Amino acid sequence: MPYPTLLSPLTLGRTTLPNRVLMGSMHTGLEELGDWNRVATFYARRAQGGVGLMVTGGMAPNREGGVFPGAAGLYTAADIANHRTVTTRVHEAGGRIAMQILHAGRYAYGRDCVSASALKSPISPFAPRALDEAGIEAQITAMVTAATRAQEAGYDGVEVMGSEGYFLNQFLAPHTNHRTDAWGGSAENRMRLPVEVVRRIRAAVGPDFLLIYRISLIDLVPNGQSWDDIATLARAIQSAGADALNSGIGWHEARVPTIATSVPRAAFAWLTARLRCEVTIPVIASNRINTPEVAEAILAGGQADMVSMARPFLADPDFVAKAASGRATEIAPCIACNQACLDHTFAGKLTSCLVNPAACHEAEFTAPQTPPKRIAVVGAGPAGLACAITAATRGHQVTLFDKAPVGGQLNLARQVPGKEEFTTLVDWYHTMLARTGVTLRPQTATQADLAGYDQVVIATGVTPRDPALPGQERALSYIDVLNGAPVGNRVAIIGAGGIGFDVAEFLTQTAPSPTLDPALWRREWGIGDPAETPGGLTPPTPEPPARQVWLLQRKAEKPGRALGKTTGWIHRAALQAKGVLMLGGVSYDTITDQGLTITRNGIPELLPVDTVVLCAGQLPERSLADALLAIGLTPHVIGGADRAGELDAKRAIDQGTRLALTF
Ligand code: NAP
Ligand code: SF4
Repeated sequence: MPYPTLLSPLTLGRTTLPNRVLMGSMHTGLEELGDWNRVATFYARRAQGGVGLMVTGGMAPNREGGVFPGAAGLYTAADIANHRTVTTRVHEAGGRIAMQILHAGRYAYGRDCVSASALKSPISPFAPRALDEAGIEAQITAMVTAATRAQEAGYDGVEVMGSEGYFLNQFLAPHTNHRTDAWGGSAENRMRLPVEVVRRIRAAVGPDFLLIYRISLIDLVPNGQSWDDIATLARAIQSAGADALNSGIGWHEARVPTIATSVPRAAFAWLTARLRCEVTIPVIASNRINTPEVAEAILAGGQADMVSMARPFLADPDFVAKAASGRATEIAPCIACNQACLDHTFAGKLTSCLVNPAACHEAEFTAPQTPPKRIAVVGAGPAGLACAITAATRGHQVTLFDKAPVGGQLNLARQVPGKEEFTTLVDWYHTMLARTGVTLRPQTATQADLAGYDQVVIATGVTPRDPALPGQERALSYIDVLNGAPVGNRVAIIGAGGIGFDVAEFLTQTAPSPTLDPALWRREWGIGDPAETPGGLTPPTPEPPARQVWLLQRKAEKPGRALGKTTGWIHRAALQAKGVLMLGGVSYDTITDQGLTITRNGIPELLPVDTVVLCAGQLPERSLADALLAIGLTPHVIGGADRAGELDAKRAIDQGTRLALTF
């Protein structure tokens, strides 16, 4: 059997699961739409895919504990009926689902937020109210009531969110708990609240209801919990009646990446392994686990009893079914980009997935069966690939033309240290082209080649924008650089968009990529050991930069403002650590043998660089599309060939997939 440990049963409390895969909690935004059938469809689809257990997005136990005003919760008995729609559909699909109880504490985006002490978080504009004794009792009661309502709604259990810097974690860490009463001070007092919550929930729901506690294994904030605190808490939570401990890593305000694509796979499993030595109940590993191989290695290596994966179930609801049936290479990979999931959440948009735009939009991505057609797709970048594979899956006969390697600009992205996951995506496209029977023609398509097809799709991508700078014949394009062209020791990058940042990382990192070397990565970001420093932070010791880089843009704003909400800060911090000089408000004068002359604040300045790299955006590559239009044909134009501004793989894949569903 493939993945023998991962796919073996596991008993949590009195519940036996068919495998050791947990779909971790994710905020999708579906619950807030109020269409509970849609919520049910999302979870039922994942239950069909064979996942052992799912945990819902965090449900607030009361208004002050909601992550934002209007956040979904089990506020009143009337909410139970909505949740029952979900549990019924999941059980009909053969799955199991637990509800997460999430009290946000000072992370709640509202004036009514409460916490251990009146200390504002750096990521919230609202200072919390410090709870008095009666206030604490009221919060405990609300969480217990949420658990009993979850039980009434048909859930198989609850997960109590005690990590990521939320309410319970705020009581646990001296960083946020400055109390001097029975709920603060000593470790015993700080852990009183979470232990009491677990004890009273167990007493209220009885022994059969699954109770998971998500424990923070490394806070990654100053003055966080020590390992002694964490281990003592784990044992107390076990004694209070929890059936399993899930791993929480880092607070939301931590300035250390914990789930982004540049985080090494399974980077924090060592902490779960250590937790496993402290308790006898099963422990669950989490964070940057995205393939069955990685999951199996964690379990077979004795680091955990179960693995939690969340975003991978947006990318592919059939993760477990494919792993179990020997089709693991067909699992659409989560590349941990956050572009369509977490970045959407923070922008108040519904979650989806860059790789799988049907995630959370299941109903929009179904189409009636149609007679097979002959379809030509020109361009094997993300838009063309998504279109070709989706059309072929629907039974159409698809020919995909591209002289360049399959993957388009994904092949450039994968060269960048920290973006190695893009290779996984390109590999998946290769697998799926073969699996769906797309005919690949490694050539430039001519008008003549495209005759006789029922539908022609032009996905020819982009060409770099020509900034027309004096002396730019001396400059290199980002394509040359990412493909390995020699570059000097002092480099100016013109353009500080996503690609400018990528090129800066490419040029300042030395091999190996920290993403592929966890010990190096921990040193780069200052991740220590909570057994040595409470909170687990240590001074970062980044490797020296490979070269001096200036990253420039004409806009006066801070470079990198348009990068992803949840990842932009990581890119900026990584470049700062490498001493990259990021300058806005620049105008470019000329490139000479002496370097690049710019003007800033009206003052000309020579940057003494050996190499200038152009990353000045892109324009649509429409020559073939225009030629076809000129002879009266009506091709479909998608991806960068359609719109290059703000182009990213997310839009390209979404557009290509949706088009294929219309054939
Ligand atoms: P971009 O984000 O549009 O950035 C283009 C840069 O070029 C800007 O800094 C712009 O700044 C500058 N520029 C524009 N016209 C110029 C001109 N005529 N002369 C000089 N500079 C000029 O484009 P990109 O960096 O090529 O990235 C393309 C897309 O790929 C992005 O939109 C993104 O979606 C995706 N991508 C994202 C990431 C990521 O998020 N990490 C990474 C790679 C790619 P000024 O106009 O201020 O000078
Ligand atoms: Fe993973 Fe990116 Fe999809 Fe989010 S959008 S689930 S991070 S691939």
